[in-house]
Order: sequence, then structure tokens, then C-alpha cells
Amino acid sequence: MKAFEFVSPNTLEQALELLPGPRDRAREGTVKLFAGGQDLLSEMKEHLVEPERVVNLKSIPGLDRIEVDPGGSLTLGALAKLSAIEEHTHVRERFAAIAQAAGEVGSVQIRNQGTLGGNLCQRPRCWYYRHEQALCIKKGGAECFSYGGLNKYNAILGGGPTYIVHPSDLAPALVACGALATIRGSQQGERPVELERFFTLPSEGSILRENVLASDEILTSVRVPAMPGWKSTYVKFRERGSYDFALGAVALALRIEGGTIREARLVLGAVAPIPWRCEKAEAALVGRKIDAESAKLAGALALQGAEPLKYNGYKIPLTQGLITKALRRLA
Ligand SMILES: Cc1cc2nc3c(=O)[nH]c(=O)nc-3n(C[C@H](O)[C@H](O)[C@H](O)COP(=O)(O)OP(=O)(O)OC[C@H]3O[C@@H](n4cnc5c(N)ncnc54)[C@H](O)[C@@H]3O)c2cc1C
Repeated sequence: MKAFEFVSPNTLEQALELLPGPRDRAREGTVKLFAGGQDLLSEMKEHLVEPERVVNLKSIPGLDRIEVDPGGSLTLGALAKLSAIEEHTHVRERFAAIAQAAGEVGSVQIRNQGTLGGNLCQRPRCWYYRHEQALCIKKGGAECFSYGGLNKYNAILGGGPTYIVHPSDLAPALVACGALATIRGSQQGERPVELERFFTLPSEGSILRENVLASDEILTSVRVPAMPGWKSTYVKFRERGSYDFALGAVALALRIEGGTIREARLVLGAVAPIPWRCEKAEAALVGRKIDAESAKLAGALALQGAEPLKYNGYKIPLTQGLITKALRRLA
């Protein structure tokens, strides 16, 4: 591993001063933020990133808070541990999808070390991206090797010119719950961004990134509004029985009155480079009861437009099955 400077600031302001300015192109990528370190250190060991400076966010007090305001909304600090989110009573009772998604991440050890910010900002798991010697388009090369290669785990929606899927379990659950990200920058101060708009498709923004964060910005917290009358759930399918990333995942939030769906938010994981919101399926669910017919309709509309690659067509029926399972759970 290349030698680097490890800095532990005591405040967010100090951390921001250690980052390159938004127009400092020469220093872009030379400074990396360190939360739980699980993903960053793997990337450094594989020489995928070689920062000159690593800024330790764990030395900043208060970034790990989990707070519920009197109105019932939830604030999760970027340094909140995944296990703390999974185990928090209010999160489990009021925002079940978020607690369930946190509980589906990796293993107990990973959840005890991994943080919310690190989980949302982790880099893709595509094996071409992770291979030190494969200069794929995500690392400044010319080609997405998964497109004509081994693409079992890649995107069926929103792909091109790269076909990564977003690996986070928490991202779809938080988007389904209408979460808002808070970002602090050295120049712009604080800005709120709907979490749905935080993630970017490879065809938007920069192909080298997966979100809207500029080089001088830090994700500081995520706020989830109170959702009176809503129920939510997160359903994940993994290839093996022990810990693994999702092959398909569904986050579903519904407001049901008298057995009829009044509002719906449906977000897919592991099928696209971003958490994939299914607005047509959501609209079709409103006014219906949860039954086999509504599940079939939602499944068909949610996967409309999917363009599977050679080895990942299975993700369509798999995800449709998960939608049915999520609806049944909330029935
Ligand atoms: C074996 C294994 C299995 C896993 N399985 C799953 C799984 O099933 N589901 C799942 O969702 N995840 C899974 N993960 C991913 C794991 O949850 C993430 O690696 C972890 O959440 C990263 O969190 P961290 O706090 O360690 O982040 P770090 O490694 O410290 O950071 C990750 C990235 O985010 C950036 N970053 C961190 N915090 C911030 C911030 N506040 N603002 C801006 N950028 C930031 C860092 O610079 C870095 O690029 C797995 C990881 C491993 C190693």
C-alpha cells in the first residue's frame, strides 16, 4: 500500500479544511474520507485508490447520533453504526424497512464496524471494477467489461455506459422512506438533498462517481420524516445462506386504510446503478387491495424497461417474486 497521511480532525470544519477545493482538479481523489474503513481499506490494498491523505471521521464527536424528534422523524448521523440502526427500538417500530435493511448487511462484525455514510458511499462490487489489473470505464478506462463479459451480478435497469449495481442495502430502504441527505461542503455550507437524488446514474454526472458529493463535501446525516400510518419492509435475496450482497432486493412502504392502499413507495435494489424507484408501479398500487393481481401488476410495471445482459435475465422474475413477498408481508 502506498504511504499516506492519516489525519483525525476534532470538528467537521477541520475535516472540511483538509479536503481539496471543488475546483482543485489537480488534487481530486488525493484525499479520502475514512468512516468504518471496511471498503476504503480494501480499495487501498487493491490499489484502486491511492490517496495521499486519509481523513478519519470517527474522531469528530456527534456524527454517530441516532435521534428521534418529538414529531417522530428520525435523524441518523453519517457515523451511526449499522448495528445501532438495526437495534434501535424506534427505528424497528416505525421504520421497519430501515432496521431490516441494516440487519441484512453482511455479518455481525461488518455491521458493528460499518457506518451509515460508508454504506451509502461504498464503491461498486462489480468484479471488473474490483480487479486491480482491469482498467474498466469506472476507473478511467474505455470499456465496461461486464457488458460483454460475466454479467450475472450487473444491472438490468439504468445501465450504460457502465452496468454496475449499487451495493447498499440501506439505500433502497431509506429512499422508500423518503429520506433526505444532509451534505456539508467547505464552500457551499450545508445543503439538503433528497436521498433519491443523491445517487447518480452513470449516464448522468461523472461516470467515476455514484453520487452528487463534490470533492470538498461530506455526507453528515440522513433525516427520515415521520410516516404516520405507513408500514414498510425490506426483502433481500442473496446467493448463499451466509452473508452476501443482494442479487435482488425490494424496499416497500405503504399507507393502507381499511385494507386499501392509499400511498405507496417501491424501490428496487441490486438491479440498477442507483436505488431504482418504481413510480408507475406505486401509482398502480394506489386504490387496490393487496392480492395476487395487484402483486402481478406491480411486478410487471416495476420491471418494465428492464434490459437484461447475457447472464442476468433471472433478476426479472427474482425481483418480481420479492415484490410479491414484500406486499404479502405488509398485508
Ligand atoms: C465482506 C463484506 C460484505 C458486505 N456485505 C454487504 C451487504 O450485504 N450489504 C451492504 O449494503 N453492504 C455490504 N458490505 C459493505 C459494507 O457495509 C460497507 O463496506 C460498509 O458499510 C462501509 O462502511 P464503512 O463505514 O466501513 O465505510 P468506509 O470504508 O470508511 O467508507 C466507504 C466509502 O465511503 C466514503 N465515505 C464514508 N463515509 C463518508 C461520509 N460521511 N461522507 C462521504 N463519503 C464517505 C469513503 O471515503 C469510502 O469511499 C460488505 C462489506 C464487506 C467487506
